[in-house]
Amino acid sequence: MRRTKNHLALLLIGYVVVYVLVDRVSYIYPVAPFAITPWNPQTGLALALLLRFGVRFWPLQFAGALAAEWYVRDFQAPLGLILLSCAIMTAGYTAASAVLVGKLRIDPTFTRLRDLNWFMAVVIAFTLPIALSYIMMFLFDGLIPPDEFLMDVLIYWVGDVIGIIVTTPLLLVHWPVTVNALRRLFGSRENIAQIITILCVLWGVFGWNVTDEFKYFYPLFLPLIWIAMRHGLKGATLAILVIQLGLIISVQRSEQRYVTVLELQALMFALAATGLFLGMAVTERQRAESMLSQREVILNRALRFASASEMSSALAHELNQPLSAIGGYVSSCRLLLSARQPERLHDTLEKVTAEVARASQVIHRLRDFYRGGVTKLERITVAELFEGIWSSVIKKAERHGVNLKIQFDDILPEIFQIFIDRIQLETVVHNLVANAIDALVAGPVERREILITVGKDPAGRLRVEVRDTGPGVPMEMQSRLFDVFETTKPEGLGLGLGISRSIIEAHGGKLWLEPTAEGACFIFTLPAATDE
Ligand code: ADP
Repeated sequence: MRRTKNHLALLLIGYVVVYVLVDRVSYIYPVAPFAITPWNPQTGLALALLLRFGVRFWPLQFAGALAAEWYVRDFQAPLGLILLSCAIMTAGYTAASAVLVGKLRIDPTFTRLRDLNWFMAVVIAFTLPIALSYIMMFLFDGLIPPDEFLMDVLIYWVGDVIGIIVTTPLLLVHWPVTVNALRRLFGSRENIAQIITILCVLWGVFGWNVTDEFKYFYPLFLPLIWIAMRHGLKGATLAILVIQLGLIISVQRSEQRYVTVLELQALMFALAATGLFLGMAVTERQRAESMLSQREVILNRALRFASASEMSSALAHELNQPLSAIGGYVSSCRLLLSARQPERLHDTLEKVTAEVARASQVIHRLRDFYRGGVTKLERITVAELFEGIWSSVIKKAERHGVNLKIQFDDILPEIFQIFIDRIQLETVVHNLVANAIDALVAGPVERREILITVGKDPAGRLRVEVRDTGPGVPMEMQSRLFDVFETTKPEGLGLGLGISRSIIEAHGGKLWLEPTAEGACFIFTLPAATDE
């Protein structure tokens, strides 16, 4: 209880102190003696407080505003006016928060594009009346000349908008800051490179003694876009802050002010809005992808308890959705890229689309297979079978640092024919290689090698051996190896070997685990295609 109280007291005092300091630091180009400055981050702090902890904290916001008037502007306007202006601000931000969270039900941690859209719209709409009434008060009191009225309203309004869109999302998406988050920030080379790039670009744009530096501000968008693309909204908000601070510092440093306040504001707004929307789009996509994979994990768990045929229809149904989404993404990428015509990328994307189509075909076939054993048999050579599968297994092996080799023993692969369902057989080889890779990657092994030996058995049937240098199949697992739902992997389904054996047996062949001194060795045989 006492801890909670202490916590609250700390929050109250901390907020007021930070509010005053932020107001002080950002107090540049003032239309003295009022708080009319190009960006007002303290308003962003106020909105973050109300959105994060609830509108019941409005008195705290009022206290902060009042303290800032005293500390930053020394109560230069009449006290009545100051009190009224603080009240207007507090009421405005409290109402904006109430609308955002209460009525529009946005998620204050910005998980969807919708949250950001409403946030921007409400901020722009609610800060205008605040700016109008604030400036109007001083106008009526004769403290602001009438011909400056519109300009001051505009500067105050845009200043509030910028202060809020730079500060509020930043605080909301990063709060509470953890040591781990900080470690992650400085822990990757790419992040360090990004920070250095921002600083270099800022220096490149403003570090010279050129009078019209603002003409060359475009490069500032580049690091921002890079960071937003890689780290979503979290990265974008940080990058925006750093760029904004760089801008402010360089404007303050340059003695002759060649930029007007509005020019500066326009640039700040464009940068902040670009970064936020791009970052949000990336975050939303990442979220959708992680939800998809979470759904897959849940599905996989559920599947352990389902019967094989239920499993196959669920798999077919569930996996088809992400697969067609991937197809959609890939096609749109192709469209985008083809505008510039990088031909090789184009070709690769074509292959990806083909792989996606194949994956979906595999699922359909498996379902059919389990339903009624429907297979699509065709006569192909052994060479054709391995050509079809090779590129995908070799890529998988390379990705995991596994040395995968194939050798043909006493067989002419271009001549030897089998009568099989190609997709099903590819699935078997794929499963065996994938299992071997999993085993090699899971534990410490001396060598990461897989050798596929293709030959003939004494009865003249095709004999394929998949041998790895991994730890081998655990003793207790060996008797249940081909049972469905038997697995030793945290994310495993325990289906691969069961399905593979059914496929091989449906083709009149055999699949077994061969005892070996080192690693694991799976062998399957298939009858050769007869001549008629
Ligand atoms: P899953 O891969 O989903 O676990 P499988 O039927 O493919 O299902 O495999 C069942 C289990 O057999 C695996 O969890 C693993 O313990 C074991 N296994 C299969 N292949 C190998 C291998 N090459 N080396 C060691 N263990 C293996």
